Amino acid sequence: MCYVTGAIMNEKNNGVPIVQLDNLEVDFYKRKGILTNPQRLNVLHKIDFTIDRGEIVVVVGESGSGKTTMANVISGQIKKTDGSYKFNGHEITSMTKEQISEYRSSIQMIQQDSYAALNPMRTMIKSLGDPMLIKKIANKSNLLEKVSKVLETVELTPTDHFINKYSHQLSGGQRQRILIARALAMNPQLILADEPVSMIDVSLRVSILNLLARLNQERGIAILYITHDLATARYVGRNGRIAVMYLGQIVETGNVQEVLANPKHPYLQALLSAVPIPDPRLSRSRKKAIIMETDLPSLSNMPSGCRYHTRCLYCKEICKSEQPQTRQYGASMVACHLVEELPKFELYDKIAENQ
Ligand code: SF4
Repeated sequence: MCYVTGAIMNEKNNGVPIVQLDNLEVDFYKRKGILTNPQRLNVLHKIDFTIDRGEIVVVVGESGSGKTTMANVISGQIKKTDGSYKFNGHEITSMTKEQISEYRSSIQMIQQDSYAALNPMRTMIKSLGDPMLIKKIANKSNLLEKVSKVLETVELTPTDHFINKYSHQLSGGQRQRILIARALAMNPQLILADEPVSMIDVSLRVSILNLLARLNQERGIAILYITHDLATARYVGRNGRIAVMYLGQIVETGNVQEVLANPKHPYLQALLSAVPIPDPRLSRSRKKAIIMETDLPSLSNMPSGCRYHTRCLYCKEICKSEQPQTRQYGASMVACHLVEELPKFELYDKIAENQ
């Protein structure tokens, strides 16, 4: 098994990743009628993936590619069907009570919809404070101080202004910061951020992304950032790794800057070529976008061989019958039979110097 792993290691942990998935499979079952047998849907397939201490990993792909399912497996909300999932080196299905308790606090999730994620009947001190009391991170005498501290960390100041507010009294950006504060209150090793800025104003997005990057740099908290938006993926993951998912599989991984500057897998090339460019000069010089003519295939009618072959410009016979193995090509790990033969991908024609 081959991984591209992050650089920051924890000496106490001898470089053991926080999360290690090996050959992981997840199946869902769908029943069409009461008398029919349920149909197996293979939503994650042969996932080999690690998250090291203090690193940022971005996961990109269309809706239905399996990114959120993978995050839900990592957070423990969905159980794997097969393969291995280790948290801090311990197989998830055979951990002790103490290890399970540490696992639950150490991995925190920031949801996309902050309105749905917060209980509208609770003030912020209740929303943030109750988990701290339950986990014995705070007691009744120091609760206010601890909650204020965590609000300061997410830049919600003056803290008295927010402590007794209900979620409907806050803006979308402020609610998103409350979700980050709630995650931070548990002293996590890893934050799973699932499209955390997709429902807030564009003008506020950068400040939330910068907050996540600051928590990563200053506190060494690992971040798994899930998005379909390559622009925010590039911004958040500028010092990290990227994993590109397609129909339940990771098709390309590597350093974010290198992978996005020199994409190898035809799916990532198509995604990049479809991103709108606001600069008219660059837009004019862009090569023709690679259009994926068909929609994402259904999980209930999974293509044989390479799962991308029904949409791939370069598909050959082997692609229809054999699944490609993930292998190193340049600086990336790529799952494509023909990666060595594909034409070099260039997003732009050369821009004339006097243009
Ligand atoms: Fe395209 Fe074949 Fe590569 Fe799949 S294996 S991405 S179909 S060229």
